Amino acid sequence: MQTIFLDDLYRAIKTVGIERSADFVCDHINDEDIVSVLDEMHRQNDMRIEVYDTTSGMTFYLLYSSGSKNDWRQDYLPHQLYSYYSDTKLNGGEQLFSEEKNPPNEFDENNFKMPKAEHKRGVNLTCVRVLENGNKELMIMLHSSITPIESTVTTLRFILIIITALLILLSVTMSLVISWKFSKPLKDTNEKANRLAHEDYSVAFDSQGYREIEELNATLNYAAAELGLASSLRKELIANVSHDLRTPLTMIKGYAEVMRDIPGEMNEENLNAIVDESTRLSNLVSDLLDISKLQSGAVPIEKKVFSLTLCTSDILSRFATLSQQQGYSFSFESDGEFFVFADKSRIEQVIYNLISNAVNYSGDKKEIKVTEKHTGDTVRVEISDSGKGIEPEKLAHIWDRYYRADKNHKRAVIGTGLGLSIVKEILDLHGAHFGVVSKVGEGSTFWFEIGTVKP
Ligand code: ADP
Repeated sequence: MQTIFLDDLYRAIKTVGIERSADFVCDHINDEDIVSVLDEMHRQNDMRIEVYDTTSGMTFYLLYSSGSKNDWRQDYLPHQLYSYYSDTKLNGGEQLFSEEKNPPNEFDENNFKMPKAEHKRGVNLTCVRVLENGNKELMIMLHSSITPIESTVTTLRFILIIITALLILLSVTMSLVISWKFSKPLKDTNEKANRLAHEDYSVAFDSQGYREIEELNATLNYAAAELGLASSLRKELIANVSHDLRTPLTMIKGYAEVMRDIPGEMNEENLNAIVDESTRLSNLVSDLLDISKLQSGAVPIEKKVFSLTLCTSDILSRFATLSQQQGYSFSFESDGEFFVFADKSRIEQVIYNLISNAVNYSGDKKEIKVTEKHTGDTVRVEISDSGKGIEPEKLAHIWDRYYRADKNHKRAVIGTGLGLSIVKEILDLHGAHFGVVSKVGEGSTFWFEIGTVKP
């Protein structure tokens, strides 16, 4: 804008300025302090001002002239003044003259050095007003010069070109650097995400550069770890479930064949073995069904008010045979009788699963303790055993499906790896808090808290 319009703008501003000043002088010509005002205008605006008395129409008397005469090289001849006067009068009392400056004087040392073209373009502006003032006629002349600014414009243009070139260079360099800095870690992450998609869970998202990519990498690392875990659990599940299904089936088949082929083997002991194995099979299948139903929400929970204390002691009595035959000792302590509003059969399943886990993992001591404590509006049920406990790093995973702390699948230990995940699903559906406190070598205490109601 500057390089294109600077010259024209400068001329326009000067022209408007001189016309306004002329109007101002006309309006204030009778003011007492007009002389000092005119002096000030001359000083501030670099403008020569003259006031003539032109009443006679022929002879002009200079009433006022700003600055010393030396300030201006031009002095008017009488016929020049007259031509300004008559032109202005013809134009209704207002006229603006714009004249090219005189060509440089060849012998003038100062002007000789100025570039010719620029010198030519210098313009003298003369704004003339002729006005009636009482019985007098006055001619006001304002002179100003428009200094050529072509060299300034050329300089600006040159600077503009340099700045533009520098900025283009800078922006290209910056965009290259930025795109490299942004795209490199993204490319890296994308490549690794592809590997992750092809089941390479060991991939580490570690490209660095800026916060967002580091956050994305952290999330992807987490996703990779979770996917890896899910995948290994899935493999374990297939191994466990097929093992769990195959073993009882093989045993049932074995016992049945023995009974069919050897008449003497048709005894109660073998039949009991077949019944036991079938029970194990059906337990596994019903656990699998339970968990998938709970997770898909296929079975809605049906809440009603019931006595949790009574329910717990009922379940404990089911383990009575176990205590008689295998020497387990069960104890039950309760602060009172607690009523809860929940799905009775599901809560029974929770307590049953926790007690049977306590039985399965109670070790040689075979002591299982169940307590019910009042905690504000809730009752806290704790099932403790005196078994070998769970290692701290495994605690977080025991609620996962098919997770078994002890990877060596021992047939001696009954379980499908689904018990605790069923417990978790049910307690989540009831909005109950739950958890486990366990110390290796001392045993574990599984607990849950559920809101109590009045019977
Ligand atoms: P499982 O059918 O194998 O018992 P669960 O989901 O009930 O499956 O439990 C998951 C794992 O948590 C178990 O394999 C066992 O390692 C651990 N666990 C559960 N209860 C106890 C407990 N009372 N004492 C020690 N370990 C336990």
